[in-house]
Amino acid sequence: AGKRLPLPSSHDELHSLAGALNDLLARRDEAADRLRRFTGDAAHELRSPVASIRVQAEVAVRHPDPELSQEVLTDVVHESERLSALVDGLLTLARSDAGEVPPAEPVDLTAAAHAAAARCTSDDGPEVVVHTPTGLSWVWAAHNEVDLVLDNLLRNAVRHARSLITVTVITGSNVTRLVVDDDGSGIAAEHRQRVFDRFYRVQDDRARSSGGTGLGLALVAEVIRRRGGTVRVAESPEGGARFLVSWRTTSLS
Ligand code: ADP
Repeated sequence: AGKRLPLPSSHDELHSLAGALNDLLARRDEAADRLRRFTGDAAHELRSPVASIRVQAEVAVRHPDPELSQEVLTDVVHESERLSALVDGLLTLARSDAGEVPPAEPVDLTAAAHAAAARCTSDDGPEVVVHTPTGLSWVWAAHNEVDLVLDNLLRNAVRHARSLITVTVITGSNVTRLVVDDDGSGIAAEHRQRVFDRFYRVQDDRARSSGGTGLGLALVAEVIRRRGGTVRVAESPEGGARFLVSWRTTSLS
């Protein structure tokens, strides 16, 4: 408060001031457009699990056949889980948009990667191989942010891999990298930028069959960017997708 721009004293200054103001207005319009689109998309995405839960619950009420209700109720449970993941994701994004960022601390990416790999390994799923440096690798973030990144990247990899997922942690003096490779069908170049957009999906199956929300990678990008890190997707030497994340390395001294 109290800050004032100096009054322009020449035609050139006035001209450049008008230019700067126009840029500002254009940016504000873009932000408003983005917000409108996001609200509309969110409402659309929330409608589908809600409608499905309602229809199925009505079926279960009308047909008191225990076998049918069992089947229908199992679907209701799945749709409720998806709804709850959607609402959680929307809340996290809304908080972040409002500038609410949880406190950061040094987090050992090596330990977090091993724990996440264990969480997503199953007997009938792809093999998950983890390569980490022998020591610890500290990154500056909140614990749940690191888990969110790992869980979303690994869940996607499990969904798309044929048989192998590789998780690699590389520690440098400035940057600590996380690389997640899978041997699935990968992401075509034209989608690589946009998969980090909210609700963007490669195939428009709305990810219903896979239980996805379309928010996973948007959340990943959000929690990484707000710590000054980067994330991108490329083609993996294993044939599928390669997600590359970098965080600032934290020294404990
Ligand atoms: P969803 O919850 O629908 O999976 P995400 O934001 O996690 O949403 O992913 C966005 C899109 O990127 C999805 O359409 C998904 O198909 C694609 N995608 C994400 N990870 C991979 C991967 N490892 N291999 C191929 N496609 C992927």
